[in-house]
Amino acid sequence: MPASYDIAVIGGGIVGASTAWALGQRKAGSVALFERSVIAAGASGRTGALLRRHYSNEPEARLAMLGQSIYRDWPDHVGGECGFVPEGVVVTVDSSPGHERNLDLLRANVAMQNRLGINSQVVTGDGLQAMQPFLATDDIPLASWEPDSGYVNSIAATRSMAEAAARSGVEIHEQAGDTKLVVESGRVVGLETAEGAMAADVVVLATGPWCVNQLTPLGIDLPITALRVQIAIIQRPLELSRDHFIFIDTAAGVFTRPWGPGTSLVGVGGGDQHDEVDPDDYTPGNDPSYPTAALSAIARRIPAMGRGVYLHGHAGLYDMTPDTHPVIGRTRIEGLYVAAGFSGAGFKKAPAVGLCLAAEITGDQSPVDLTPFDPHRFESPGWDKPWSDTEYTFSSDFGHKL
Ligand SMILES: Cc1cc2nc3c(=O)[nH]c(=O)nc-3n(C[C@H](O)[C@H](O)[C@H](O)COP(=O)(O)OP(=O)(O)OC[C@H]3O[C@@H](n4cnc5c(N)ncnc54)[C@H](O)[C@@H]3O)c2cc1C
Repeated sequence: MPASYDIAVIGGGIVGASTAWALGQRKAGSVALFERSVIAAGASGRTGALLRRHYSNEPEARLAMLGQSIYRDWPDHVGGECGFVPEGVVVTVDSSPGHERNLDLLRANVAMQNRLGINSQVVTGDGLQAMQPFLATDDIPLASWEPDSGYVNSIAATRSMAEAAARSGVEIHEQAGDTKLVVESGRVVGLETAEGAMAADVVVLATGPWCVNQLTPLGIDLPITALRVQIAIIQRPLELSRDHFIFIDTAAGVFTRPWGPGTSLVGVGGGDQHDEVDPDDYTPGNDPSYPTAALSAIARRIPAMGRGVYLHGHAGLYDMTPDTHPVIGRTRIEGLYVAAGFSGAGFKKAPAVGLCLAAEITGDQSPVDLTPFDPHRFESPGWDKPWSDTEYTFSSDFGHKL
């Protein structure tokens, strides 16, 4: 093992693995990835991995679009398997009294997605019910529907990405301990890992909410917090043998997708379901009340699911920024890049994030402009302005914006 690398990536989630892969593809020099546990030990192993592209701002829609295109044609781009399952994605918006304007915003946002090249349509609740008669859609005047999206197996995808990185020459170090950054005279010079100290000219920090502890001693205060969010796996009754659409259902306060044959993943929205926690000290299992909450939430959209059976579930962490948009790009410490703060919506974007960061690091043009994701933006006045004039308002907290 060399004691020095051109580029070190810290964090073996989908973002770190994708960045390492993209650097390997570019033959960017000697590259190593350091994961303190195993690949996909963090949010990437606990996620829903729904691939929505519906956003109310262009920069994130562009990342989601590029990310989805890689998942969809994984064997051609990455090699191996990510478990992509094609399925339509429905996004609903709150249109309750006081929030009716969301319907106009929905039309505008679907038009924006179409302009970018995303296959998305405005559909009525009746239209959805005609396609899937088991849906209850009384509260959906309009929704966005992406017929050609899907979901992936997140652990398979993250491992496959790391394997592809290794095939392109990247060293993958699992169980590397809590890697620390070494900075001298305002530039990163290396790392300290369980394997010892090593030099690196460039470091990419892709450690989710844990990046805060790595950056604070360097004088960079990233306002990222960890939100504990649960999901449950529900066995559907026999009458629901057919898979249902993927839903990011902010109207019903639930997100769902098929999980396996006859089973579905269900996550409950609402502020009372999300706790801010210490990322090193949170309960990784479901709360005792969660199975009932999940069944009752999903029954609002698919009534027969109320007769489903809870099988198992777990909690994971959203790494939340104050504006719920990620931080991606170079920091003011020379040679140090960060990609974190994905606020519960990073899986779909990760392959794109890797491609963009690798392009920036090697001095090429990024396929998506990363300027809006500037890690230091919270230090400037106006950081809290919406990223578009088509941002939705919600009567209940869904954990993240759209
Ligand atoms: C319940 C849930 C549902 C979600 N649903 C979706 C969804 O449907 N669609 C979507 O797009 N996104 C979703 N997300 C969000 C998505 O999963 C995350 O945005 C994404 O996985 C983040 O990837 P990451 O690589 O940045 O972080 P992580 O996967 O958390 O990886 C960070 C890694 O860094 C390692 N690490 C930490 N500190 C150190 C250190 N000092 N040294 C070395 N390694 C270290 C950790 O062990 C970890 O493996 C969901 C998240 C959760 C929790």
